[in-house]
Amino acid sequence: MKLNPSEISALIKEQIKGYENLVESSDVGTVIAVGDGIATIYGLKNAMLGELLLFPNDVYGMVMNLNLDDVGAVLLGSDRQIKEGDTVKRTHKVVEVPVGDGLLGRVVSPLGLPLDEVGPISYAKTRPIERIAPGVMTRKSVNTPLETGIKAIDSMIPIGRGQRELIIGDRQTGKTSIAIDTIVNQKGKNVKCVYVAIGQKNSTVAGIVAKLKARGCFDYVTVINASASEPAPQQYVAPFAGMAMAEEWMENGEDVLIVFDDLSKHAVAYRALSLLLRRAPGREAYPGDIFYLHSRLLERACKLSKDYGGGSITALPIVETQAGDISAYIPTNIISITDGQIFLVSDFFASGQRPAVDSGLSVSRVGSSAQIKAMKQVASSLKIELANYRENLSFSQFGSDLDAETKRILTHGAVVTEALKQVNWAPMNMIREIIELFAVNKKFLDDLSLPEVNPFLSEMYQYIEDSHREIIDELNEKKAFTDELNEKLASAIKEYKKTYELKKEATK
Ligand code: ATP
Ligand code: MG
Repeated sequence: MKLNPSEISALIKEQIKGYENLVESSDVGTVIAVGDGIATIYGLKNAMLGELLLFPNDVYGMVMNLNLDDVGAVLLGSDRQIKEGDTVKRTHKVVEVPVGDGLLGRVVSPLGLPLDEVGPISYAKTRPIERIAPGVMTRKSVNTPLETGIKAIDSMIPIGRGQRELIIGDRQTGKTSIAIDTIVNQKGKNVKCVYVAIGQKNSTVAGIVAKLKARGCFDYVTVINASASEPAPQQYVAPFAGMAMAEEWMENGEDVLIVFDDLSKHAVAYRALSLLLRRAPGREAYPGDIFYLHSRLLERACKLSKDYGGGSITALPIVETQAGDISAYIPTNIISITDGQIFLVSDFFASGQRPAVDSGLSVSRVGSSAQIKAMKQVASSLKIELANYRENLSFSQFGSDLDAETKRILTHGAVVTEALKQVNWAPMNMIREIIELFAVNKKFLDDLSLPEVNPFLSEMYQYIEDSHREIIDELNEKKAFTDELNEKLASAIKEYKKTYELKKEATK
């Protein structure tokens, strides 16, 4: 077919007619490629990093890459109905989520949409999911304990409100249980809780929600669920959304606990996104900014000073290790960002020592300044006693001829280990922990057989609660042991031990 020049010029004129408008309207772009939850868009000259984009069929996307000629965006919904050539509009907004008390007792998606069947979320305010962490001058060091209700943790690895404490361990070592018990223990303590589930099975999350509800512990909790079946962008956004919700409460002067379960899966989701966005892979194929990703998230957890309302966000990120390797890339990153770690060991867990906390490798770098004095008084020697015990335990395997001192260390260490066992879903109040550890510390239990230890402790506490209420009241009030209180508690325990022994005789 031949075209004459006038036809060609008409065609070209037609083609470039809208050109000027096209350049002007940098708010509308065209999809040039889409797949795996990622869209590449031509146009959108002035798009901002992190800006929300509107695709056809009400699918939203978030700008992640600003290239010379195009924009890379992750889709926060299904990419099924988006095709090449679709128009994309800028919204001039960064990604925001609803915040406020309307979220309590709810299960929501990473964008704050309801996932439970209780109707729409009521909210008056939204917040951008990304924010610069509070500066040094607005912060204060931790001074109030965040009680986990778990003996082994409150005594040896105390956590303060505003602290970031990592829970790290292999698969199935009780990581989630520690975080959930801590949430359960916040009942009636004026701490709002956010549980961010990343890449978990929906059934697991549903199970946790049902159990929290059954215990009446759900009305102060928000669950954000980005399950394993959600695309990577949802999982990537989830912890930031949770943090934004927590920040709203913190800025109102409230205390918040936020759990990220878990950040290893979050790192994997971010790696998937980054590779699809064609960012350069680094160590273990994670992108170079994976450290920055988690540090800018966790730095937002802090304790604010009085001038800024005195609120706090305590963060409990969870990381899963492979074969106990805490020196892998993601674990070391997050260990260095947090204020300490609770290290769980699968051998301990398998041998029945649960919670499977390794007291040697676990630390809390700031929490001890928030620990109450009475707890310090009874727990200060625990770590050393346990370390001593473990060391001597390996010696004792070589022979039976042990000197009296080694025997004493072994018996006492075994009792301490036994006394720190605690089933999940049963957090204790702080005073009970202190009284139980007092009895252990003063060696009242060293002559008992190991299976007797925990029943003895709980019956003893019951006895003190029933017959020596004044000791509990005094501890509650003074939060420290005086010589006199020491005496009183010791004699109450002796009293109980007598009746315990008589009872034991009788049942023989
Ligand atoms: P995953 O790697 O699958 O996320 P996890 O490390 O989070 O596992 P959990 O789910 O908390 O581990 O616990 C694993 C199992 O062990 C659960 O069935 C839980 O009920 C049980 N469990 C956890 N802690 C204790 C405990 N202190 N006493 C007895 N059982 C426990
Ligand atoms: Mg878990």
